[in-house]
Formats: sequence, structure tokens, C-alpha cells
Amino acid sequence: MNPKNKKKEHAAPLQAHRGPGAMPAPEEKPKEKTKKAAAPIRLRHTDRPAPGAAEKIYSGFALILDGLQQMGYPVGDENFNETGPRAAKALMELVRPVSEIDQAVTDLVEHSFTAAYDEMVISKHNISFGICPHHLLPVIYRISVAYLPSEKVLGISKLSRLVSLLSRRPALQEQLTQDLAEVLYTRLDSRGSAVYAEGLHLCMAARGIQAHEARVVTSAVRGMFRDQSETRQEFLKLVTASPLSLL
Ligand SMILES: [Zn+2]
Repeated sequence: MNPKNKKKEHAAPLQAHRGPGAMPAPEEKPKEKTKKAAAPIRLRHTDRPAPGAAEKIYSGFALILDGLQQMGYPVGDENFNETGPRAAKALMELVRPVSEIDQAVTDLVEHSFTAAYDEMVISKHNISFGICPHHLLPVIYRISVAYLPSEKVLGISKLSRLVSLLSRRPALQEQLTQDLAEVLYTRLDSRGSAVYAEGLHLCMAARGIQAHEARVVTSAVRGMFRDQSETRQEFLKLVTASPLSLL
């Protein structure tokens, strides 16, 4: 991070995690110079993913069931009835198409309003869910975000919405943390932003090293939160003060 990089650049599109095997290849949206008319934010589990993605995910779960059968499990009995499509649908609730997330973030930012308030705004301890790109296993996040408005202010619920939206990608926690800070800084044209994220990664807790108690903590700061240590300290004090635990 370059501490002198005070002035924001134009809003960069969110970077999806493009690591090997990490993300179904969505259709790239051409960059648009003109803003579309504001549309309601949509993120329903009934929304369909990009054409072709659903079939591929369904087929993948069918193969997983075949594998379980070879391990001796009775996948033909009633407990497994419709498990393939059900599991595919569950995965597609946890992971939304890149284009849908980008559009929802754009809609959300466009719903900001002007307010004579320039103090710190914090949305603390938002619980959200995602999956890790390495194992495709669930991650439970508890994320606090803050920004210092210049002109644009987001409704409080929109901050939680933003956390939930960006969590629903198979992205590293580090990437999620930085993307949240970036949206609140550049897209909202704020004077600074800060993110403090804790993650319970099932790939670490339930398998492998089985570090049940381990929580991954990441943080990112932009603008005044980076340049002024007292602002950063105030944020960290406020978001880490509660004894609430993540499971
Ligand atoms: Zn993992």
C-alpha cells in the first residue's frame, strides 16, 4: 500500500478471485462509462446463475454422489432423494454470479444519499457466509466496516448488505477484506474506510489441521484510517471491545 495514495482513482471493478479452479467463468461485462438508472437491489436465491453454470454444478454433485456410492454409501435410498439438485442449489445460494454481485454493488452505491454528517460510521459484527477458493468449504465471517463520509452516506442496512454481497464469492478472506475497504473508499468517495474481518474456516476447523479455535483475522484501511493512527485506533478499539464471540 502506498501511504501517499490519498486521492482516489476511478472506481475499479471488483476483482473476482481468478485463481485456478476458483470461479466458474462468468461472462465478462463490458466496462460501462455511463451509469445505468438505479435499479432495486436483487439477490434472491431464486435468481439463476449464468446459463450453463447450473447444469455444470448439478453434474458435479451427481459425480460426487457416485463417488459416495463407491465408498459404500446407499445413495439410492430416500435420504439421498434429490440430494444432487438440492446441494447444487445450496452452493448457488452461497456463491452468486460475479455479474450479479457487481450490479448489486453498483445499485447499492447509487442508493447513497447526501447528509451533513462527517463523523465515523461503523457497522459492527456483521455475520456473513462464503466459501473458500481452496477447498470450496464454508467460511463464517464476522466483519466490521467503517467509513468517514465526505458527501455520500449509505443507509445503515446497506453496509450489512455490502458485507453479505461480497462474502458470497469463492474469494480469499484477504481479498474480501480489501474489496470491502475499496468499495467504501473509492465507490463511495469517502475520506477513508476500515475493515476488520474474522473468519471461521471449516477447511481449517473440521479437517486438515483441525484448528477448531483458530480464527483468521484480516484488516484493511484506506484514506484517513491509514494516514491517522488515532482514527485507526478508535475504529479498532470500538470493533474489538465486545466480548461477543464467533461461535
Ligand atoms: Zn480452505
